[in-house]
Amino acid sequence: MTEQATPVVVVGGGLAGISFASALRQGGYSGPLTLVGEESEAPYDRPPLSKAFLKDADEQKIRLDVSRLADVDVLRGVRADAIELAARSLRLSDGQRLPWGTLVLATGARARDLPALQGTARPVFTLRTMDDARRLREALKPGCKVLLVGAGVIGLELAATASELGGEVTVVEAQPRVMARSVPATLSAYVQQRHLAAGAQLHLSRRIVACFDGGVELDDGTRVPTDLVVAGIGVQSNDELAQAAGIRCNDGVEVDGFGRSSAPGVLAIGDVARQVEPVSGQVMRIETWSNAQMQGAAAARAWLDASAPPYAENPWFWSDQYELRIQGVGMPAGERELVRGDVASGRFALLQFNGDRLVGAACVNNARDFGALRRLVGRRFDATDAQWADTADLRKIA
Ligand code: FAD
Ligand code: NDP
Repeated sequence: MTEQATPVVVVGGGLAGISFASALRQGGYSGPLTLVGEESEAPYDRPPLSKAFLKDADEQKIRLDVSRLADVDVLRGVRADAIELAARSLRLSDGQRLPWGTLVLATGARARDLPALQGTARPVFTLRTMDDARRLREALKPGCKVLLVGAGVIGLELAATASELGGEVTVVEAQPRVMARSVPATLSAYVQQRHLAAGAQLHLSRRIVACFDGGVELDDGTRVPTDLVVAGIGVQSNDELAQAAGIRCNDGVEVDGFGRSSAPGVLAIGDVARQVEPVSGQVMRIETWSNAQMQGAAAARAWLDASAPPYAENPWFWSDQYELRIQGVGMPAGERELVRGDVASGRFALLQFNGDRLVGAACVNNARDFGALRRLVGRRFDATDAQWADTADLRKIA
């Protein structure tokens, strides 16, 4: 069972940390609760940073709901520097030592730097924080030649936003297709077409090898003139605090279904947690908004109630690019793919099967199917392909 020792200290004031603290209070815990956050900014949501926020700069719209944190000690602009496991205390950057009975690591992840351009005078932007987004917004002028390095979710959302703001967009991606980590090849091709139609230049299976005055050079010798370089080449977890304390880590803090790490009394949640993904059974970090929200809250419920079930939600994400709302759940690809709906209409779902098991689904502008598929993924069915493809309500299949 999860040890219910107090005081409770949460490190990290992002979505996972706020979600844990809110669920603890909502579940009736009225004891001492402190939230330590390195950012001095009031808590905010990250997804709009690559989308609406770059266009409207509306900071109020993206604030997280902190109404349940009224009686939580919130330390902003303070960094947790060291975990003292034996003494159960936390050393902070302002010199304080905080005692804890339960320590919750919600330290998230940070953007990877682009190795090829390190040490050059050319500024390379990354996007993780509100400050990053403010700087990027300043730099994104109409007519600006924008180079996105990485055609993952960040790169492509920024490609769409920059283009809508009047930028001239080029994308360089190391993989042979876009969004390779998160969607099936069929959907990569569809998304790629949308970016090409908007006028973006795409260089796939390419890397930057050098900079010159006014641009960069790719590994096939292509020279790309650019005013602004943004790297969206993945993240690395902020697990150094845990590592230094000897807590078991492997690119993320390893946790069980209750968020418990290898150290008694220490939990980890959100992007920094490495956990079993229920559909594939693989151990991984799940870098999505929904995981930060739901796994954070589930760990709090398990802390409150020893009979709470382990966290086993199907992982899901969304991405907005131009008019496309892309949503994915479960594994990006299976042994067999089935199309539901009409791809040409711009509203469809791609279902992934391993045998009779639905292992994943990706939808485009199809929230209704996605709502049902989120729950169906992971299960076995004896439905025929015709039944799956029938565009009537999917709930009839279950
Ligand atoms: P974080 O949000 O990274 O928060 C961790 C916090 O801990 C940070 O504030 C950090 O400063 C703080 N911290 C770290 N170390 C310390 C320390 N030692 N002491 C004190 N504080 C510390 N997901 C989707 O599903 N859909 C989307 O459309 C989507 N869009 C995104 C767009 C952008 C631009 C980004 C960056 C992410 C997006 N995501 C999206 C991913 C989603 O936002 C993350 O999965 C989620 O924010 C993770 O929350 P978290 O609380 O675990 O970590
Ligand atoms: P991703 O891992 O999704 O994509 C990065 C891509 O960049 C990969 O295809 C990677 O290829 C490629 N790459 C790596 N190095 C280079 C290089 N030197 N040159 C060219 N390409 C390279 O990461 P993102 O940066 O897009 O996203 C970062 C974080 O933000 C993630 O945690 C993500 O979940 C989150 N996020 C989520 C969103 C959503 O769900 N809608 C939206 C925005 C962000 P390779 O695999 O070979 O390394």
